[in-house]
Amino acid sequence: MLDNSKTILLTFDYELFLGAKSGTVDQCLLQPTRHLQNVMQPFGVKAVFFVDCTYLLRLKEVSLTHTAAKRDFEKISHQLVELVNEGHYLYPHIHPHWMDASYISAQNSWELNHLEKYSMNNLASAERNTIFSNSVGVLDDIIKEAVPNYQMDCYRAGGWCIQPFEVFREIFKDHGIQNDFSVLGGFGMTSNAQTFDFTSIAKNQVPYRFESDVNQMDKEGSFWQFPINSIPFRKGSLWNRLLLKVLWRTKLGQSYGKGIGVSPKIKWVDLSYDQQYQMLSIELLNQLNLSAYKRYLSSNNYMHWVSHPKMISKYNMKVLEWFLKWATKKYNVNFDWQKYPSYNN
Ligand SMILES: [Zn+2]
Repeated sequence: MLDNSKTILLTFDYELFLGAKSGTVDQCLLQPTRHLQNVMQPFGVKAVFFVDCTYLLRLKEVSLTHTAAKRDFEKISHQLVELVNEGHYLYPHIHPHWMDASYISAQNSWELNHLEKYSMNNLASAERNTIFSNSVGVLDDIIKEAVPNYQMDCYRAGGWCIQPFEVFREIFKDHGIQNDFSVLGGFGMTSNAQTFDFTSIAKNQVPYRFESDVNQMDKEGSFWQFPINSIPFRKGSLWNRLLLKVLWRTKLGQSYGKGIGVSPKIKWVDLSYDQQYQMLSIELLNQLNLSAYKRYLSSNNYMHWVSHPKMISKYNMKVLEWFLKWATKKYNVNFDWQKYPSYNN
């Protein structure tokens, strides 16, 4: 591998808003994803889409009796097949509180006010296994239409809820999942909905093997962790607040999706992260932090982003395009997680 080669992983949580108002399929999923496909295509990006498949499970169920939901399910299936055919990856992402969501037929949208099932760890093992199998099954059925022997071997937990990993270990083994993309190095939080602690993992951590604890590197471990990275940034700084305020007044700066997300009651949050760092993310990318993204890539060979199509604006996509142009001109960039150098050794 050449000295100037870098791995950039653009990963997405393909999901609606997960709180009081889900937003629409067109605005939260279809439109922004189509825009992303167009931005990424010229650079040969092989992105990873973690598809909220417990949502798909509920949507499929409701589509038996509601034509608007049926149309949504068909449009999503069509887009997912298109993504796979373009060379992107699709893997499961699970937000179990979809099981308690109510469908509002007049608006063809959802209300997710119950957080009791937000974390898989709060469920009894039988329920957990059923939700996991049924959710993954829906995604499997969609992909198999296009690629019969597609390997569904990666996972990202909803709301960072991957601990304790013991809860997932057997499920992963049963489903042939060998790679996890849930760890946000350096961050930790406890709320009424979730608890996770990745504070012992570096913010620029590269992929590693593990066995029974996502925070415990183990050279002999059966699983790989592809941690998400962060850059130093003060999100509350004056310039950043001003820029966002101005952008929000223009169509260009508004996110595609309109909805209301989860607002958990936070009991503990790692302030040394929360006040000074920010995860690498297209929806957080702007002209003020672009140079920090460039600096990150210059001094690291691995760069894992996590983004949400529903949160991304046209402005963010433009800045992403600038970044990708700069990066691919300067470095030999690998966008394929499967080709991360030490993964195949
Ligand atoms: Zn999610």
